[in-house]
Amino acid sequence: MRVALDLHIHTLLSPCAGIEMIPINIVMKVQELGIDMIAITDHNAIGNVSSVINCAKIYAPELKVLPGMEITSREEVHILGIFPNLESAKELESIIHSHLNSIPDRDYTTEQLIVDEDANFIKYEEHFLLGATDFSVEEISDLIHSFNGLVIPAHIDRESFGLIYTLGFFPPNLKVDAIELSKFATEEDLETIKPSIPFRVPIIFSSDAHFLSDISKPRTFLDLEEKSFEALKKALRNYKI
Ligand SMILES: [Zn+2]
Ligand SMILES: [Zn+2]
Repeated sequence: MRVALDLHIHTLLSPCAGIEMIPINIVMKVQELGIDMIAITDHNAIGNVSSVINCAKIYAPELKVLPGMEITSREEVHILGIFPNLESAKELESIIHSHLNSIPDRDYTTEQLIVDEDANFIKYEEHFLLGATDFSVEEISDLIHSFNGLVIPAHIDRESFGLIYTLGFFPPNLKVDAIELSKFATEEDLETIKPSIPFRVPIIFSSDAHFLSDISKPRTFLDLEEKSFEALKKALRNYKI
């Protein structure tokens, strides 16, 4: 089946995301746009993933929601981890939290909200999520893989937090399952970036939505056997641009 993907969506847990990024709003908006599979990828945390999964079960049973996390490396590169289940994502989250090392210069605590599927407040996330971990990009890749996740360097066309601009090159031995371009990337950007990537790899486009209006029509479609993590993993292995 042809599946429309958006594997990079933030919730109100990310301090840089809008308060409207509650489960029901995300679920309704992606459904309206014909997106079949999403990943919830807050910065260095998974606190709202289960709420979006539960919300989708009730209001959009056809929508597949995968657990994800956008992890910040010590070089300040953003890497998406997409996971087969909540348990493995949760285990990695506790490791990430013990390696977040930045001290914020403002009060952030009330900006990181964990809510249930009906957007009822549960608690504030106490770790400052916009900090960087002390892991290198290679270590993050290995960690995600050790939890059977997919490794996707985020928005590599962007100067801020994008792998190529931040490091100045694409590490030739970095193990990735796909590469993400932001939704604003043009075909020209794609052609400019391709020579910097030392191997053939699937390239996907995601919204990196921080606000509801950021969620836009899907640009990546994959032929999957079913809407599942395993089918996605298999399809990515065979999808090379
Ligand atoms: Zn990012
Ligand atoms: Zn993001």
